[in-house]
Amino acid sequence: MVAQRFRTRFAPSPTGYLHVGGLRTALYNYLFVKKMKGDFVLRIEDTDRSRRVEGAQQNLLKTLEWAGIVPDESPERGGDFGPYIQSERLDIYKKYCDELLEGKYAYYCFATSEELEENRQLQLKQGLQPKYNRKWLPEEMGGSMPSSEIRKKMEQGAPYVIRMKVPDYVSVWFEDIIRGPVEFDSSTIDDQVLMKSDGFPTYHFASVIDDHLMEFTHIIRGEEWLPSMPKHLLLYEFFGWEPPRFAHLPLLLNPDRSKLSKRQGDVAVEDYIQKGYSAEAIINFVAMLGWNEGEGTEQEVYSLEQLVERFSLERVGKAGAIFNVDKLNWLEKQYIKNRSADRIIQAIKPLLIGELEKRPTEMPESVITSDSYLEQVIDLMRERVGFEHEFVTFSPYFFFDPETYEEEGVRKRWTADTNTLLREFVTILASLEVFSAEAIELELKAFVAPRGLKAAALIHPLRILCSGVSFGPSLYHMLEVLGKDAVIRRISRGIETVVCVA
Ligand code: GLU
Repeated sequence: MVAQRFRTRFAPSPTGYLHVGGLRTALYNYLFVKKMKGDFVLRIEDTDRSRRVEGAQQNLLKTLEWAGIVPDESPERGGDFGPYIQSERLDIYKKYCDELLEGKYAYYCFATSEELEENRQLQLKQGLQPKYNRKWLPEEMGGSMPSSEIRKKMEQGAPYVIRMKVPDYVSVWFEDIIRGPVEFDSSTIDDQVLMKSDGFPTYHFASVIDDHLMEFTHIIRGEEWLPSMPKHLLLYEFFGWEPPRFAHLPLLLNPDRSKLSKRQGDVAVEDYIQKGYSAEAIINFVAMLGWNEGEGTEQEVYSLEQLVERFSLERVGKAGAIFNVDKLNWLEKQYIKNRSADRIIQAIKPLLIGELEKRPTEMPESVITSDSYLEQVIDLMRERVGFEHEFVTFSPYFFFDPETYEEEGVRKRWTADTNTLLREFVTILASLEVFSAEAIELELKAFVAPRGLKAAALIHPLRILCSGVSFGPSLYHMLEVLGKDAVIRRISRGIETVVCVA
């Protein structure tokens, strides 16, 4: 027996941004198939012309690339990667639809939207589940419409759709990889439209045709597509095709267990990118939305390569997965803690240079943009920032002299003597030959002890004058990084401005 090559696809509709749920679908398809050394294919489902959004496709591609989920195939276009695009495959759908018409699995329907709506209201009033009333089902297919009527409409050029005829009494079932056996009663299934009046196929039709022609072995998608399964399975049966295997992923939920919605937070991957989350953290986070490695594993931080190795659909749960942003924030911090300084420097330097263009600084630019200076800032701030960009924005005092001083800090930390003490201490700092954290600490302690003061009497005011705020990394190390010139300048200037208000 020849081993089957596994193939999966991500089939987004370009209706705007990439939803985090969409990213999870793409990721699970990717992880599953890469583990099996198979192909991951991208297909753009753009047959709903009314929902098309300009630029959405490019956006999707860009976001997937950012996430590192790169599709494999260069379909139909000799080498360069380009996704399959359904709107370029209309002839194919037409051909297969003609086959269904011929085999009497499908029929023309000329019902107007007003008629359909009227019918729907009537059924709702009768407490029935709305379904097409089969007015246009031809006599020869068991309906009541004479073929002469159908021909007449055709000749008039009246607009029509093509519907599939759902057999009356069959039960449709399949075995979902995540959910086990699922069964549907065909009496609840509508005669689904396959071709719309604009000549475009519906999602249901185009996706079944393509999933077959593109030889996908596994269809992995969101739970919202589960109710469509009977229509899809019937189409496979009409054509005599063997269906692929299916896995329907659990819903994403807000922490209050309601369906994940924009109202409770961001749902577009782009929003998270814009806030500064890294691809590694997002991928790691999204992977855990429904999957875990199993009992006995404490591991929570996974690289994409590790996920490929460890992922399995058997360990995806049925229950809704809670989207907890705190977890994402925690993961982001873990990644920052472990990221190489070089990589962080590469990311933050352009940002810093942008800031320096907007705002003058008294710090020597060649120093504060140097790798060695940035490396020291990163060492000090690694544990404190939530995002990479915060190496620049969270502690601007490494790059700019403070312009204001936190009022509350001043109120709490200044006594009538503080400025006098600082004035004396700054001369000691100025005389230091080696401006190191150790040396500063020794001098500070030697300065306060004989005066019967605690180190805090100077530590806090020094921090406020040198950084503008009352929190931050170890003061001594911070002063060392800032360097003697900046520290002396900032203290001297600060004591001119800050007065004791106690
Ligand atoms: N175009 C559908 C979507 O936007 C794809 C569903 C499927 O994977 O079959 O989610």
